[in-house]
Amino acid sequence: MPELPEVETIRRGLEEVLPGLVFAVVEIISPGPLKDLPTDQFAGSIVGEKVLGIERRGKYLLLNLVDGCSILIHLRMTGRLVFSRHQQQADRHTCLLFHFTDGSCLSFSDIRKFGTVTLLTAGAKSNTALSMLGPEPLSGDFNFPYLDRELEKRVVSVKALLLNQRVIAGLGNIYVDEILHRAAIRPERRARSLDRKERLALFRIIREVLEEAVNCRGTTMSDYRDATGSAGTFQGKLLVYGRMDRPCFRCGTAICRSRVAGRGTHFCPECQK
Ligand SMILES: [Zn+2]
Repeated sequence: MPELPEVETIRRGLEEVLPGLVFAVVEIISPGPLKDLPTDQFAGSIVGEKVLGIERRGKYLLLNLVDGCSILIHLRMTGRLVFSRHQQQADRHTCLLFHFTDGSCLSFSDIRKFGTVTLLTAGAKSNTALSMLGPEPLSGDFNFPYLDRELEKRVVSVKALLLNQRVIAGLGNIYVDEILHRAAIRPERRARSLDRKERLALFRIIREVLEEAVNCRGTTMSDYRDATGSAGTFQGKLLVYGRMDRPCFRCGTAICRSRVAGRGTHFCPECQK
């Protein structure tokens, strides 16, 4: 958490408000998220720069600046970016406050402190973690022949394959459990063992679930909020995630929780084969 639908929702929110704004002051309350750069250098590189646009790649956000640099942000578990037209006061979880010349403010806060904020110089995108990411599942780069080939060459579980950011960018634990339930596939099945009908269903449902979740502005189990501080609504549509011991909506069997690919995994033992 957050996964593709949440990060995309934040991106859309920021895209409405940030382009054209100029950084006035970067207030560094806790330097924890800043990687690879001394804090004064980070602030010094950004002040006076104008925001060009907001991009998302997998679970990463890029604040692209007019001079060609980008601020690369990964929210990890509990990172939160909230924009306000007015000044914001730091609370005990606030790490960074970006103040703009028009008086508006973007805060980066993080309860568990795993989130990262990096400055990428122009042209550096190809040398970072971004270059390792697989295709975007909602783009044309992700197609059935590609997924079919990846399933065929992997001996890992289908859940591990879907969580692998090098295979598909942006999926995480919640959406993988939901996708595999809708596709009626057991998470621990070997990727290669899926037949053609299952592979086609999986491909279709990956997109279906992500599109629905983006339309719902993401899933809020506890911490996630969008760029205006509002919760998502896809949690009301979850069929298995977080529903251990409760009846499957399709068949009434109790939802099981086990450990697959090192992650707590929810599935229906009756519907998913
Ligand atoms: Zn069921």
